[in-house]
Order: sequence, then structure tokens, then C-alpha cells
Amino acid sequence: MTYAGVWTIAEARDGALRQVSFELLTRGRKLADKRNTTLSSVVLASGISDETVRELIKRGADRVYVVDDPALAHFTAETFSNVLVKLIDTYAPEIIIAAATTSGRTLMPHVSMRTHAGLTADCTDLDIEEGTGNLLQTRPAIGGNILATIKTPEFRPQMSTVRPRSTKPAPVDASRTGEIVRLPFDPALRDGRVRRIGFKANEGEEVDIQSADVVVSGGKGLKKAENFALIRELAEKLGGSIGASRDAVDRAWIGYPHQVGLSGKTVTPKLYVAAGISGAIQHLAGMKTAETIVAINSDPDAQIFRVADYGIVGDLFEVLPLLNERLSREVGSK
Ligand SMILES: Cc1cc2nc3c(=O)[nH]c(=O)nc-3n(C[C@H](O)[C@H](O)[C@H](O)COP(=O)(O)OP(=O)(O)OC[C@H]3O[C@@H](n4cnc5c(N)ncnc54)[C@H](O)[C@@H]3O)c2cc1C
Repeated sequence: MTYAGVWTIAEARDGALRQVSFELLTRGRKLADKRNTTLSSVVLASGISDETVRELIKRGADRVYVVDDPALAHFTAETFSNVLVKLIDTYAPEIIIAAATTSGRTLMPHVSMRTHAGLTADCTDLDIEEGTGNLLQTRPAIGGNILATIKTPEFRPQMSTVRPRSTKPAPVDASRTGEIVRLPFDPALRDGRVRRIGFKANEGEEVDIQSADVVVSGGKGLKKAENFALIRELAEKLGGSIGASRDAVDRAWIGYPHQVGLSGKTVTPKLYVAAGISGAIQHLAGMKTAETIVAINSDPDAQIFRVADYGIVGDLFEVLPLLNERLSREVGSK
């Protein structure tokens, strides 16, 4: 069988595409160009318009396969997997990338088992190997202390999930054209064993540090939970969200939804402020792609200064009140 083309698995909710779908196009376009092949996106959804789907083309897809049916309104691994496996059997893509979201990380192992293909989870980098054309899938391994690059030379398609926010969304080019292929949903593919009985949002889901333009994070240097008030004040003044290191979360100074890093969330804000955070590799994995990084640490040799654009060597209990006071005056005088 000849496998060709790169696919991204777009994610939709309530008739709208999720931002991660556009991040996957940044990755997918690069891979497709290197392989000199086409880039297609797959949308499994209910009630999604051509106009909505066209955004995938404007952001880099050459073709979009849409399967639109009420049975696909909510994610269920079995039904989504049945539909995707059928598409793979029909069109034989060489590479498939999906988001390392809860649904992506549930769907893709199911698909990989059914297609006997390899899958690398939670990649932070993807590339094409010169000569062989194999997909190079890089992800942190052994507690995040090394970056491992994995290949799947024996099996096709090659499949990866990619960390949300680990790359920027592909930009819109209104002049791009492409094809929308709407395919019928085969009712036989619906897995009747699974029924959706409701949706309960995770408490803390309102903490969306991944969409924030500004994230102000605190670490063990804060010494105790109450001192997060300094972080909260700065975040409020900058119109941002509150992040934290794992040590701060493990000490229950703040909830897990705020954790930034390898076992927390990846953020790419315009501004990231790290106060009392040493800059362990697992923390850096979640924030080093921020546009501007400001670090406040009393240890001039702290690792965080290696990635910081601006470093303040000092006691955060002196620096943060000064910053907050200065911002109060600036904002107050406007
Ligand atoms: C598998 C695995 C996954 C992990 N995932 C994550 C993750 O997702 N996110 C994460 O953050 N960590 C993660 N870690 C933990 C990580 O290795 C570090 O232990 C953690 O990031 C350290 O947190 P910290 O920087 O707050 O604490 P520390 O490393 O103890 O650093 C505290 C810093 O505060 C500074 N400081 C102290 N007092 C002051 C003061 N008064 N003023 C200014 N600075 C001061 C100190 O100089 C020091 O640099 C993970 C570890 C493993 C093994």
C-alpha cells in the first residue's frame, strides 16, 4: 500500500474549531512542505459550516475532510476512532498529527492499536529525516531530563500527538484555496455501547492560563500560600493569569490548574513573569516559548536566568511590592 500526505486532526466544539487545530497546521504545513506533499485536516463534528472549516484552508490545509453528524457532536473514543480508521483505510495518509489534549490522547492510542501503527505521545518537536523521509518525533523523556527522538520506520501511518500551545497557530492567508470534502457518516460506525449522559466541567477549568497574554508565576521562593497574594496582585495589575511551579502546587499553596511545566500546562504568553522559581528543566518545558520572560530570583546563578529576557536578582519580597506599587501609580495616573 502506498501512503502519502500529511493529516492533522482538527478539534471542534459546538460548531467552532478549537485553536489547537490551527497550531497543528503550523506543524503539518512544515512537514508537508518538507515531504513535498499535501496537507489535509480532518474534522469530525456536528453542525459545522463550510465557512468555519474554510479557516483551516486559509491557515495552511490543502484539503479538509469533514464528517458531520449528530453522532459526532460529543467526543467518544470508539465512534471517533471507527470513523478515523475508515478514513485512514480509504486515503492512506503517511503522517497523522493530533493534539495532545484529553480527547486527542484518548483517540489516537485507540486508532494506533486498530491500524497497527506507531504513535508518539506529547511531542514538542516534529521534523522529517533527510534521506529516509521518516517522521522524527521529539518528546521529553526520563522525567523530562532528556529529549528523545523517536522514529517509526516499519509502519505507516506515522502518528504523533503534539502538546497544545507548543507552537503558534498558523497565520491566516485569505488568498489560499483548497478543497472541502464532505463525507457521509456511516451509522454502522457508531458505537452504541457508549452513551453520553452529561458533561461536568472540571472545577478549576475556569483557570485558563493557556489563553492568557500575561502569566505571573510563583514558586517555592514565595515561602507560604499567603504570599501568593503578591503574585495575584501583579497578575491583576497586568491583566494576566496566575501560574505556579510544581513545588508550589505540591505544597498546596495553589491549585493544580495553575501549574506550568512538563506535568502541568504549556503556556506561550506575550509576557511570563517567574518569581521565586529556580527554572528546573521541567518548569522551562512549559514556558520557555513565552515571548518575553522576566525572572525575579535572589540567586544570580538560578537556571531561570538562562531563558529570561529580563532578570532581576533580588528578594521577591522587596521586588514584587515595588513593582505593584509602581504599576498602581502608572495605572492610577492614566
Ligand atoms: C517528572 C517530573 C515532572 C515535573 N513537572 C514539573 C512541572 O510541570 N512544573 C514545575 O514547575 N516543576 C516540575 N517538576 C519539578 C521540578 O524539577 C522542580 O522541582 C520545580 O520546578 C522546582 O520548583 P521551584 O522553582 O518553585 O522551587 P525551587 O527549585 O526550590 O526554587 C525556588 C527558587 O526560589 C528562589 N528564592 C528563594 N527565596 C527567594 C526570595 N526571597 N526572593 C527571590 N527568589 C527566592 C531560590 O533562589 C530558588 O531559585 C517536575 C519534576 C519531575 C521529576
